[in-house]
Amino acid sequence: MQGYEFLGELSLSGELRKSTGILPAAYACHRSGSKLITSAHNQEQLTPLNDSSYLCASHLLEICAHLNNTKHLSPPSALSTNKNKVSDDINLNEIHGQQHAKRALCIAAAGQHHLLMIGSPGSGKTMLATRFASLLTQLNQQQILETMSIYSIANVSGINHQSSSRPFRAPHHTVSTIGLVGGGSTPKPGEISLAHNGVLFLDEFTEFNRQTLETLREPIETGMITISRASAQVAFPARFQLIAAMNPCPNGCDIDQYGHCQCSQQQITRYRNKLSAPILDRIDLQVSVPKLPYKELLSHTNNNTKEDWHSIKRRIHNAYDIQIQRQGKPNALIEGKTIKEVCQLTSTLENKIIEMLDKLNLSARSFQKVLKVARTIADLDTSNDISQTHISEAIAYRQLDRRA
Ligand SMILES: [Zn+2]
Repeated sequence: MQGYEFLGELSLSGELRKSTGILPAAYACHRSGSKLITSAHNQEQLTPLNDSSYLCASHLLEICAHLNNTKHLSPPSALSTNKNKVSDDINLNEIHGQQHAKRALCIAAAGQHHLLMIGSPGSGKTMLATRFASLLTQLNQQQILETMSIYSIANVSGINHQSSSRPFRAPHHTVSTIGLVGGGSTPKPGEISLAHNGVLFLDEFTEFNRQTLETLREPIETGMITISRASAQVAFPARFQLIAAMNPCPNGCDIDQYGHCQCSQQQITRYRNKLSAPILDRIDLQVSVPKLPYKELLSHTNNNTKEDWHSIKRRIHNAYDIQIQRQGKPNALIEGKTIKEVCQLTSTLENKIIEMLDKLNLSARSFQKVLKVARTIADLDTSNDISQTHISEAIAYRQLDRRA
């Protein structure tokens, strides 16, 4: 049987049944050069693989015949291939107003920065978040395989086998730690791994269990989650982009024109302290999403045309390519020495920033975030140098630091 691998569930009658989680194993066979024989019922799971890398059978006797060279198994028949492209029907242009938030989402998409939206209920945070994935580049073949493998192990449906759209996961704030990061007696991937290569949207961010949120620290840093059990240690990929949303205050008041609500400063501080500093520290962009007057929401005088939308997307993808060519990773992931190298400033500009941060009472910790975001804004402008305009815009996305 050299050169063959067999994977599937065999019934007493000799029929081959459907099994779950076989994509990673099938992929390993493919890479090792072995030919996989599996149940015909598993074919749908294997669509990301090349058809020539496996054979399907419905009964054990068919396999015997194949191995005895009496009747060969035919190659898998092609499944319908309606390649799913990201729909242009769902995009940010559908949302009127909120230019500041939309711009922040574009920057987040270009530099893979995590983003937190702060706004009262009904301001459109969820609408904005669900349209975020449409700004991202399509998954490549390797990423489709990774994503499909995770869904296959988790035995979760809901992702199109032939889709190159990014996954979008939005777990409720009552999700358990295991549900979010993965675990269980036989460790299974959680929401953060299902969001691998895609978007993890956490609405009502402050309502999540604080300990549960803390477990996000490791995967945000490393793009992996390690689950330790007495018997084994399992690592699942979890390179997701976090889009979070929260109310500005515990009562979700409408903010008046001076940026005030009816809650006391003490109540607001207590509410915001539900989020730990290390978690907030990992989010580069914090943006206000004010509730708009009905008149503005319903107005159809939105100047964005469909062409604009395409050129915005092109600019985002172009900015992303610039980063990959320059430093091999998006700006959100650069650290230490690389930040210094790619975010060079004139001494006059550096002094100016320190002065601005001081004036706004922003922490020194914010400095690096401002630099990274300013780098992405400059990349969107295809500018080699970071200018004061880029810096000023980046500082505007440190909403929460200011009130600390
Ligand atoms: Zn309030």
